[in-house]
Amino acid sequence: MSNNPDTTALGIDLGGTKILTAVADAQGKMLSRDHSITPAKGGPDAVIKSILDSMSRVLTQAGITADSLAAIGIGAPGLSNPETGILYTSPNLPGWKDVPLRDIIEKEMGKKAFLINDANAAAIGELYFGAGRGARNLIYVTISTGIGGGIIIDGEIYAGATGMAGELGHMVIDDEGPVCNCGNRGCWEILASGTALAREARKRIKAGTRTSILDYAGGDTEKVTAEVIHKAAQADDNLARELITRTGYYVGVGLANLINIFNPEIIVIGGGLSHIGNMLLEPAYEEARKRAFRQAYDVVRFAHPELGRDSGVLGAAAFALKEMERSGKLS
Ligand SMILES: [Zn+2]
Repeated sequence: MSNNPDTTALGIDLGGTKILTAVADAQGKMLSRDHSITPAKGGPDAVIKSILDSMSRVLTQAGITADSLAAIGIGAPGLSNPETGILYTSPNLPGWKDVPLRDIIEKEMGKKAFLINDANAAAIGELYFGAGRGARNLIYVTISTGIGGGIIIDGEIYAGATGMAGELGHMVIDDEGPVCNCGNRGCWEILASGTALAREARKRIKAGTRTSILDYAGGDTEKVTAEVIHKAAQADDNLARELITRTGYYVGVGLANLINIFNPEIIVIGGGLSHIGNMLLEPAYEEARKRAFRQAYDVVRFAHPELGRDSGVLGAAAFALKEMERSGKLS
């Protein structure tokens, strides 16, 4: 086990339901890892206390103190600014408004900390240690209840002017489409996420379409989820298959936009909905092929994340090390 203080960082992947922390070295090797439930309903105070507890456990497990860390990287959901370290809002963390999360962690731990969007952290994790190793231009897309993402251009995460870049889920696909949580119409995530799939299924069931989807949801339309629809589709339910293909179509429209704009070598597609696999992804790739420029489509490789749940936590740690290196504080 390497305890080299210059190359060890603590990564935090803060989610709406779970907190993951890990001590990792510059090669992405984990020295320790901790997993706990996010007390989201308790607001920022309860959540921050849980993060600090988890950090203390993960350091003990690694047999080191905060002093021997190079830095701390925090991946957090929602809108944040890496420059100021402030988490503005987060749809999965009720009560969070303009929380100076980076400074709080820095003060408590006495260690330099860095804040980054969780999907951007996952993109970095996959670039350095996962499916994107060796790539220079990578797009990471996570499709679950919403759609998030991270853009890597020429080996660097693209943060934009104020750290807000990479909100892939809110590119407009259909300007007359359903209203998104952000207030716009027809965003990618309101058409191609798990939430979108479940919403369409409920609509069709209420309109009287014959389907076994409801049986898998115990007869309760409110319990119709992407998972339930996938189960029905595996049992050859026509509506379930049609809706998954339709969702795949919308995934593909968004992918075509990304391919035409960024000409990436690799697009890593993760998140709960991607576990449906080919039934969703084949129509997505097919639609992307039809819509993207052929020369750009031909070079892109589609991949699954290789780090599973750890892309975010490893990416947050790697981001912290990279930022230290950039500022000349790491040799
Ligand atoms: Zn939106």
